Amino acid sequence: MTTAHDLAARFGPALDIRPESLGEAAQDFGHLVRAEPLGVLRPHSAAEIGDLLEFAGPRGIPVSARGGGHSMYGQGQAGGGIVLDLRALDRIGPVTDTQVTVQAGALWRDVLAATLAHGRTPPVLTDYLGAGVGGTLSAGGLGGAGHRHGLLADQVLELEVVTGSGEHHFCSPGREPELFHAVLAGLGQCAVIVAATLRLVPAPDRVRRYCLYYADLTRYLADQRRLAHEQRFTHLEGQARPVGEHGWQYMIEAVAPHTGLGPPDDGTLLDGLAHDPAALETEDLAYGEFAHRVDTDEEVLTTTGEWLCPHPWLNLLLPDGSAESVVRAVLADPAFADLRETGLVLLYPLLSDRLRAPFFRRPSGQVLYLLALLRTAPPDSPGTAAAMVAANRAAYELARTQGAVAYPVNALPLSDADWRDHYGDRWPALADAKRRHDPHLVLARGHGMRF
Ligand SMILES: Cc1cc2nc3c(=O)[nH]c(=O)nc-3n(C[C@H](O)[C@H](O)[C@H](O)COP(=O)(O)OP(=O)(O)OC[C@H]3O[C@@H](n4cnc5c(N)ncnc54)[C@H](O)[C@@H]3O)c2cc1C
Repeated sequence: MTTAHDLAARFGPALDIRPESLGEAAQDFGHLVRAEPLGVLRPHSAAEIGDLLEFAGPRGIPVSARGGGHSMYGQGQAGGGIVLDLRALDRIGPVTDTQVTVQAGALWRDVLAATLAHGRTPPVLTDYLGAGVGGTLSAGGLGGAGHRHGLLADQVLELEVVTGSGEHHFCSPGREPELFHAVLAGLGQCAVIVAATLRLVPAPDRVRRYCLYYADLTRYLADQRRLAHEQRFTHLEGQARPVGEHGWQYMIEAVAPHTGLGPPDDGTLLDGLAHDPAALETEDLAYGEFAHRVDTDEEVLTTTGEWLCPHPWLNLLLPDGSAESVVRAVLADPAFADLRETGLVLLYPLLSDRLRAPFFRRPSGQVLYLLALLRTAPPDSPGTAAAMVAANRAAYELARTQGAVAYPVNALPLSDADWRDHYGDRWPALADAKRRHDPHLVLARGHGMRF
């Protein structure tokens, strides 16, 4: 068995074994599970990552990449192994009119700042810009422009990676496509992403944001479905919000850019929709201000301390046909009653044919909905947090019987059978890619997938 001593002998002072560093790497945004590594390595190059993996693989030492650290349930942890802290790999640029190359440890907020300086933006962004590039591309990456452009991972033109066996590759749809497709939305199983070249589009200067309110879930979903198909807006998301003691209302958040001629035409954009016109809210914002809309929440929740509390979050992708019944069941479930106080419920549509990464799992049918149940547990009550994770599990099982799949960035324990079920007929292809590129099965064990 390899010990911390063997690792220190091989990697010297580059291997950080200070208790505070091990403690940080044993944690993540979820604050629900802890697994302490033997050491933390902070590579500055692909060669250093390759060196580590060549050493770790034959010795069976688990290795996990860590970027923004926003995992919910230990996905980026490496108990008894090495955490590759990629934050020093954060170079961005050069930016051209159509693309930018960014290293995997960069955060989306830094990518956007660099591209906006050239009037450009990635076509799709996550709601929260503090997540890491590598971690998001390995999950897939969902955002409000997804109904038009697909996943963040679908915007990647080329990847620089180091495979589990320590090999350095550049891959793209035309060069080693099998590796390229196994890495995007591949949950870090086959390779560590070192850098990605991303497609860029012109960024609007200003956008108009519409909040459309609905008392009725059926009408809300019908309008969401219609707007996804018609693509009237550049950004389309939405939420379920508590109203009164037991009720819920629904809000579509839709955004359209100002053009050279001024703001968009409200009449055309809202024509025929079933929202409550008296409750309509509109607001004009600079594009960058809109993209950073979650920053204020982060600031407030950091001040109240909630940002550092346990986060038993659950993201499900629901098929169109059963979305309404699953949403009704979950929102009425007493085990999710705390969503009314400390939660945020996202509910918005995506179109399956826009989601191109082959290993990104989605329910059948063209329209699907992201249902994100984002809750905070009290800091000093492990029993409450565990009950919330158990409720996630029950909701997942219920939704799965209705054709849903998980967006696998959750506080959700999954068994071997669950993972096989998740990947369905893609499981043999994933297992094949895993054995080829990570033959010692050392990468990204934190997801709990066994091959
Ligand atoms: C506040 C908040 C808001 C979020 N909003 C969105 C959203 O709008 N849309 C969305 O899609 N997701 C969202 N997420 C989920 C987030 O995108 C994922 O959890 C993502 O994996 C986080 O990446 P990270 O680098 O920050 O996390 P980390 O914990 O560092 O990494 C997460 C996972 O990615 C793997 N990984 C990290 N870097 C690499 C790499 N270079 N190569 C290969 N694998 C790697 C890790 O091994 C780990 O399994 C949100 C999460 C939070 C906490």
